[in-house]
Amino acid sequence: MTDKKPFEIARETLKQITARKLVPTPVNYQTIYNEIAGMPNVQPFPEEPLRRIAQALPARNPGQEKQRSLLEYAIGQRNWSGVHNALVAYGGFAGAGSGDSAPAPLAAAPVPSPALTPEFFEQIARLIEYTRPALGEDDGRFQEQLQQIVKSLRDPAAESYKVKAMLADFSHRLSFAAEDQAEIRATLLKLLHLIIENIGELSLDDSWLKGQTDALKEVAQPPLTLRRLDEVERRLKDVIFKQTEAKGRALEAQEELRQMLATFIERLSQMSESSSAYQGKMEESMRQLEQAKKIEEIAPVLKEVIGATRLMTSESLGVRDELRAMREKTQATEAELVKLHRELDRVSAQARHDTLTGALNRQGLDEAMNREVSTVKRKDTPLSVALLDIDNFKKLNDSKGHETGDAALAHLATVARECMRPQDTLARYGGEEFVILLPDTPLDKGIEAMTRLQRELTKRFFLAGNEKILITFSAGVAQLAAGESGADAIKRADQAMYLAKRAGKNRVIGA
Ligand code: GH3
Ligand code: MG
Ligand code: MG
Repeated sequence: MTDKKPFEIARETLKQITARKLVPTPVNYQTIYNEIAGMPNVQPFPEEPLRRIAQALPARNPGQEKQRSLLEYAIGQRNWSGVHNALVAYGGFAGAGSGDSAPAPLAAAPVPSPALTPEFFEQIARLIEYTRPALGEDDGRFQEQLQQIVKSLRDPAAESYKVKAMLADFSHRLSFAAEDQAEIRATLLKLLHLIIENIGELSLDDSWLKGQTDALKEVAQPPLTLRRLDEVERRLKDVIFKQTEAKGRALEAQEELRQMLATFIERLSQMSESSSAYQGKMEESMRQLEQAKKIEEIAPVLKEVIGATRLMTSESLGVRDELRAMREKTQATEAELVKLHRELDRVSAQARHDTLTGALNRQGLDEAMNREVSTVKRKDTPLSVALLDIDNFKKLNDSKGHETGDAALAHLATVARECMRPQDTLARYGGEEFVILLPDTPLDKGIEAMTRLQRELTKRFFLAGNEKILITFSAGVAQLAAGESGADAIKRADQAMYLAKRAGKNRVIGA
């Protein structure tokens, strides 16, 4: 601050304006005046432009309305800090719904981002729609809310602060819905395991079922993919088919035996009835004989005794014949049941899985192949098909026996399954030939997968008793071509496998 008098400052100001060749406007005058007076050089207050801005501000809620009038008041007072506070507080009400009169948080006003375009809102709307199937349809209110928010996101006239509030509410509910779904899935999986275990317990005496339920338990492990669930479904169908058939036969046999037992009891009681009647007749005849005084009196008694005995004998013979026929029928039923069970075992085992290796059989392979081929068409993803044939298998059979050969096949299937991804499918194509379906896999990756299996087999020897035996195979891999059938792709893989054999075996060749 200077000790100059105001008129001295005014005179000096005019001098300086001339000396500095400044235009003598009020602004310049004030600037130089302040400088000489040693006062802060405050910019002139742009009242009019500020008023126009204040008038242009929308008042969408009471909070904004209040802050706008505070702003107008501060402008009238030429109060910069009042203007600053009112504008900041106004910004704090940007996201609040109408009717919200809570005090404004003193946060910076949101800067409109160029990302918040209609396309951006459309993307969020689609994102929300895509989550819909994963959340189930049980909660009607949640579904309604979902529809509303998607509608608002697509409505160009919707107020963004309202949409923002809806989004916040929706994401809160979404978190609960997602947790619920995860819980439901885990519980269903537990239930499935319980069912499988129970089926296993019920069928302790049935080795085929035991094998199937063990395989089921293994397949029904997380992570669950659609393919794994499909496999669970197919195996369960086999098990249920077997159970139902077996139960039906058992009920039939039970009914037959029940009827036979009823007849048997009836015959027995008839027999005892007739024998007690015979007994009575004999006693009566004995009495008559004792009292008889003349031969004429004995003759009719004897006649009666002979008649009763004859009747008794013929009745006994009849019952005996009937019982013998019944015994023969029981034996025949028993034999038929054994035959039926054997047939059932054969039919069930032939359903979709190969009993020896647990891999899919030809029918199972056909079904799996159809499914994969239609996925390729729908999603346009690559599918590779590998065909592998064990090398010198006949020699192994000849030197170690057929049973060891069987165990070697099961070993190969186990190693293959463990080395494959959950979505891959293993099928027994023929005696010692297997087909592996590799979805989402181009040819080079399919060849890599087979080479990996070869390496794995060199690490995990097959044990025949104490002897370690190295199993090798030759394989051909083909990638399904556009419009090609699954069977044709297998044929090409087979030709490539044949080339691998000719090239010296224990190798993988792409078709
Ligand atoms: P290559 O290396 O050329 O494939 O010779 P290989 O001996 O493996 O092939 P080949 O086709 O001559 O013989 C296959 C043998 O596999 C003949 C058959 O007895 C045997 N085999 C087929 N199915 C089974 C089975 O279920 N169990 C057992 N133990 N052997 C089987
Ligand atoms: Mg062969
Ligand atoms: Mg072979």
